[in-house]
Amino acid sequence: MSTIFTKIINGEIPSYKVAENENFYAFLDINPNARGHTLVVPKKEVNRLFDLDEDLYNGLMSFSREIAKSMEKVIKCDRIGMAVIGLEVPHVHVHLIPLNEMEDIQFTKKVKMEPHEFDAIAKSIAYKM
Ligand code: AMP
Repeated sequence: MSTIFTKIINGEIPSYKVAENENFYAFLDINPNARGHTLVVPKKEVNRLFDLDEDLYNGLMSFSREIAKSMEKVIKCDRIGMAVIGLEVPHVHVHLIPLNEMEDIQFTKKVKMEPHEFDAIAKSIAYKM
């Protein structure tokens, strides 16, 4: 059965899309640690980060970097942090999280956002790509 992220990539489940290319899809995390928290996912369904082949791994890092650079232009924060966990969804994804303090990367502090805010942030990051 497809993962929830494959369903998002295929448009079967809605997402706040940030960017896409041939191999990767980026969209906002629905339960964000901070405003603008973005997930970058390879379209190929692979469970664990270090099981990606080298090209896809390097491509994921490169695409994540591009997105982080765009996030920095539109989100006020000290820096963009990166985490790979995958304990909840078994489909590789990079978390890109705007950071001001250590708590922002700990997945305990969550922010509540309205749909129009998700929509506006996704579009503003996409605009800077
Ligand atoms: P983890 O697998 O532990 O790295 O966490 C999975 C992440 O995916 C969590 O931060 C969830 O909030 C996020 N997530 C799960 N379902 C969705 C969805 N439908 N749209 C956006 N983000 C999601």
